[in-house]
Amino acid sequence: MPPQDRHTEYTKLADLKKLVQLYDALLVEEYSPDHRKMYCLRNLEGSHSVPETISAQVVCDFCGADIFQSFFECRECVHQHSTLEQPVAHGDGYVICGGCYVEGRSCNCDKMDPIQCRPFPELLNLRTRAAQVLSANEPLLKSSVTSLYIWISSILSSDVQGRLL
Ligand SMILES: [Zn+2]
Ligand SMILES: [Zn+2]
Repeated sequence: MPPQDRHTEYTKLADLKKLVQLYDALLVEEYSPDHRKMYCLRNLEGSHSVPETISAQVVCDFCGADIFQSFFECRECVHQHSTLEQPVAHGDGYVICGGCYVEGRSCNCDKMDPIQCRPFPELLNLRTRAAQVLSANEPLLKSSVTSLYIWISSILSSDVQGRLL
């Protein structure tokens, strides 16, 4: 493999490692031991119990934060200013993010349901797959000597190319 390609591969792996660390922090924040009991916008088979457009765009109605996985919802309080009596779809009700909820924000009736965007095991599977890629490439990633070598050879090759131009 040319040094340039090895350098690109190393950079991608190093980025993936950082992403996994960030993702871990996110999972810890979003995890609830009761996740199986909560309504989920998407079931395990990947089919959608509500249209994808709704689950893809859930935002907190108070602070405007994008919801990644867990939120609270009231499907009653959205009817206050409308004559509509049909219950709205899950994910389309009055939504409050976890951060706002712990600060005491709620809907008018104060009866909010905890909701999950997708099955939690699906998020864990994704994390496992990323970790497998990292561990399969551990020698390349772990070796600082290798990364230094790759870095130096990429500098040298670009320097040579610069001089040739
Ligand atoms: Zn919020
Ligand atoms: Zn309510």
